[in-house]
Amino acid sequence: MPSIACVNGMFSAPEEARVPIEDRGYLFGDGVYETMRCYQGRVWALDRHLVRLERSLREIAIPTALIPSIREWIDEGARRSGLWDALVYVQVTRGVAPRQHTFSSDLIPNVVMTMRATAGVSEVDRASGVRAITLPDQRWERRDIKSINLLPNILAKQRAHDAGAFEAILVEPDGRVTEGSSTNVFAVFGDTLQTAPSDHHILGGITRDLVLGLARREGIPVQETVFNIDQLRSAREIFLSGTTTEALGVTTLDGSPVADGAVGPITRRLFAAFEECVRGGCDG
Ligand code: PMP
Repeated sequence: MPSIACVNGMFSAPEEARVPIEDRGYLFGDGVYETMRCYQGRVWALDRHLVRLERSLREIAIPTALIPSIREWIDEGARRSGLWDALVYVQVTRGVAPRQHTFSSDLIPNVVMTMRATAGVSEVDRASGVRAITLPDQRWERRDIKSINLLPNILAKQRAHDAGAFEAILVEPDGRVTEGSSTNVFAVFGDTLQTAPSDHHILGGITRDLVLGLARREGIPVQETVFNIDQLRSAREIFLSGTTTEALGVTTLDGSPVADGAVGPITRRLFAAFEECVRGGCDG
C-alpha cells in the first residue's frame, strides 16, 4: 500500500510534498506534532490525540482553528491510503515568515501529515524484551508540550542505538527518572506498577493513560509517583509505553539484567490486554 502525504489538505506522494523554506518549523522547530497509529485501517485514539494536539498548540500560542480540518484530513488520508497498520504523523508549525525570533499572531499555521505502513515491534523484541541505557535528561522544562524540537531526544536515542539498545531512559540530576527518549517508563516494585506523574517533567503519553486504565481494570495496584534511578535498578519489571512501542518489556538496563532478565508477568499481561483492546476496536 502506498505512503501518502498531505500539506494543508493537499494530498500527494511524500516525496512530492513541499513546504516553503521559511516555514518556522524548519527555521526554529516552532511547532508541535502527534504520532498516531492505525490499527485495521482505523486511526486509534484520534480524539485523544487531537485533544493533546490542541493543548500543545495553545501552550505555544499557535491558533487551534484548524483542528476540525486536521481531523478531516486524517480521516481522508486513512481512506485514500487504504493502509491497514500504519503510522500517522501530523505536524503543525506556526507558519511562514522571514526569519526573526518574534512572531506575529496572524501567521497561518502549516499542517503537514504523512501516513506510512508500519511493521511495529518485532516478534523477537516483543518476546525477549529490549535493552535500555540511562542518560542525563537534557531537555527543556515543558516536556508536556509535544514540541517538534527533539534534539535532546534524537541524540539520546542515537546513543542508545549506537550502544545496541532500543531506548535511552532519561534521568534528571537529582536521580529522578522521567521517561524514555520517545516512550514513557513503567516499573514494577513489589506488586505495584509505578510510572512518573503526568506533569511538566514528561510527555503524558496516550498509551501511558491506556496502560494505567488497563492495569486498574486488571486489579494491579498502580501509583503515579516519581522513582529514581537506584530504585529503577531494583525493579522487578520495567516496560516502555508509546504509540509505536505499545507496551514493551525492558530486560537489560545499562548492560545488567532486569530481575531475572525475562519479560515479566505484569508486562505480558498488560500487553495482552492492550492488544485485545486495540484490535478489539476500543478507542483508548
Ligand atoms: N514520551 C515521549 C518523549 C515521546 O516522544 C512519546 C511518543 N510520542 C511518548 C512519551 C509516548 O507517548 P504516546 O503514548 O502518546 O505515543
